[in-house]
Amino acid sequence: MVSHLSHPPLRPVRASVTPLADRAESRKLEHDLRQALLHDGFSLAFQPRYLLSTRQPIGAEALVRWPHRKRGLISPALFIPIAEQSGLINDLGGWVLRQACREAAGWPSPAGVSVNVSARQLMDGVLIDQVTEALALSSLDPERLELEVTETVLLDICPDVLLTLAALNDIGVGLAIDDFGIGYTSLATLKQLPFTTMKIDRSMIRSLPRDREDAAIVCSLIAIAQALGLSVLAEGIETPEQENFLIDVGCESGQGFLFSHALSAEAIAACFTRPA
Ligand code: C2E
Ligand code: MG
Ligand code: MG
Repeated sequence: MVSHLSHPPLRPVRASVTPLADRAESRKLEHDLRQALLHDGFSLAFQPRYLLSTRQPIGAEALVRWPHRKRGLISPALFIPIAEQSGLINDLGGWVLRQACREAAGWPSPAGVSVNVSARQLMDGVLIDQVTEALALSSLDPERLELEVTETVLLDICPDVLLTLAALNDIGVGLAIDDFGIGYTSLATLKQLPFTTMKIDRSMIRSLPRDREDAAIVCSLIAIAQALGLSVLAEGIETPEQENFLIDVGCESGQGFLFSHALSAEAIAACFTRPA
């Protein structure tokens, strides 16, 4: 399996700060984010996902990277919330979509790319235009693009977001519920939404197959996904035991450090062209 790391490990920014310092820190990062957007300061890493039965790579998730000039690589878990609060996420998300589609257009079909989209992009009504533009510029087949929406967005879903999801479905892009299993989505809600993939959160995968409760929950999630006609992907697979359990219970696909960390654009393209 590929083990080529695209970047050194992420470095946390500051472990303990007072709330006041926190606010100053956020303002500083917001300023730096603005500059990075203006000066091409982001890159994408791609984590491959695999068909578990054959370990064939079938696509990749685009993960945004921000190599900060003074602080090194900053985790998206830290800067995405700041980008969301400041509204910068719309510009950043548009860039991620265009860049991810451009890269994926160079991969052999049908390898597809998954792009994380923020709740703010959905709620601000910018997503359809961003997706249409990214597809037009790259000439990528819409079926090779999947948008990942985190499950927590669905807790408080409004009619406009429902319409946006339906319109994206009409364009032909895939829709994945990310981090599924931690957000208490009602099955009634799930049934009404045009999702195509369920991504089981890695917190459910972590203690497989030892933890009997997590094992039972994962089996139920797979059964629900199958009943609703969704494909299922397990996130954060780190051990062969987790992989074997997931194959045994009918999970189709997965991603995680067992197979590969996130790779640079060059390395991921080679991953799809290498003979099996
Ligand atoms: P996510 O969408 O659930 O992405 C998966 C995260 O899990 C990635 O962290 C990935 O590196 C990590 N991961 C993958 N396999 C394993 C594993 O086997 N073990 C462990 N412990 N971790 C694994 P990353 O790149 O730090 O991204 C964190 C989150 O930041 C993402 O979670 C996503 O919610 C958000 N994010 C990343 N890129 C974007 C983006 O372009 N737009 C938006 N809106 N959010 C993004
Ligand atoms: Mg994701
Ligand atoms: Mg996830």
